Amino acid sequence: MTIVCLYCNKPQEVSRRAVQLTCKHCYKSLKVEDILIKQYEARRSIETCGMVVVEKRGHVVADRILCGGLIVRGKVKGAVTSRGSVLVGPEADLIGDVTAPALAVGAGAVLNGNYQIVPTQPE
Ligand SMILES: [Zn+2]
Repeated sequence: MTIVCLYCNKPQEVSRRAVQLTCKHCYKSLKVEDILIKQYEARRSIETCGMVVVEKRGHVVADRILCGGLIVRGKVKGAVTSRGSVLVGPEADLIGDVTAPALAVGAGAVLNGNYQIVPTQPE
């Protein structure tokens, strides 16, 4: 499969079983796995080329979240930059700035931040 580096935006091939790799363009370490958050977690940053999924009882507080996609069913506080769509479920909270190519929000969700919803630039 092809992933796009979170830092230099260059695509590269990775094995489907890979969970981590070093970008061959900028040499930064990249996580490829999906991150599932089911409880309260405070982190400095969350960075993955995969999906970040925050379950109903999940609550993540992070300075920044860089991800391939984001699904929020619980609560998120942090600045989000996503290469793929951000889905905010009904009754979910997303507090922080969001940059993503698409945003879908369920009824009853709480949003508070600045939103830049712009299509991903083709390489
Ligand atoms: Zn890179």
